[in-house]
Amino acid sequence: PGERADAPAGAELAGPRAPRRAPMPSRPREPVRAYVGLGSNLDDPVAQVRSALDELGELPHTLRVAQSSLYRSPPMGPAGQPDYVNAVAVLDTGLEPRALLRELQAIEARHGRVRGAERWGPRTLDLDLLVYGDWRSSDPGLTVPHPGIGERPFVLWPLLEVAPGLRVPGLGVVRALVRGLDPLQPALPGGSQR
Ligand code: ATP
Ligand code: MG
Ligand code: MG
Repeated sequence: PGERADAPAGAELAGPRAPRRAPMPSRPREPVRAYVGLGSNLDDPVAQVRSALDELGELPHTLRVAQSSLYRSPPMGPAGQPDYVNAVAVLDTGLEPRALLRELQAIEARHGRVRGAERWGPRTLDLDLLVYGDWRSSDPGLTVPHPGIGERPFVLWPLLEVAPGLRVPGLGVVRALVRGLDPLQPALPGGSQR
């Protein structure tokens, strides 16, 4: 029993009716570099942000490639709430944008995030998708790049640390966007990551 001269290598393993190139339905898409902003001002914000950074590193089809140090920032919304702790994580992800948002919301929920009536009220954890490659969306359910980036020191300073040359689609390069912004304090002595 010799090999058939016209059969492609490996054809006998795949069977006679198998297509030459079998589709690979479970193959993740090409990774996209995504930037996630983290914020917390309730229930030990430093611990909330640290554990959320860990959880971002465990998302499916996702590699956490960098994270900023932790910053302390005054609250943007209603007065009388505690200061925030903020950071930015850099992900290479095969998740499409809405799937990534669902994962971010699941992490928020695991951190006890309760969405109150008050806009920008205090929260245990906020995870915002800041940038997703070159992708742009004006859908209110998922607006990307995140519309607050240009005005928010607590987003731009940590972003400067991990991606100074990042061009935010429609906005500009991070190192230019931070010019003139008030500095932020580190959340931990010496600006330590951990
Ligand atoms: P802000 O988005 O101004 O920082 P917030 O983070 O407090 O405010 P949330 O209560 O966390 O707002 O989210 C409200 C809604 O925003 C969510 O239900 C989500 O669908 C929507 N949303 C739109 N664009 C984004 C984005 N880029 N990242 C995260 N959520 C987004
Ligand atoms: Mg937010
Ligand atoms: Mg949010």
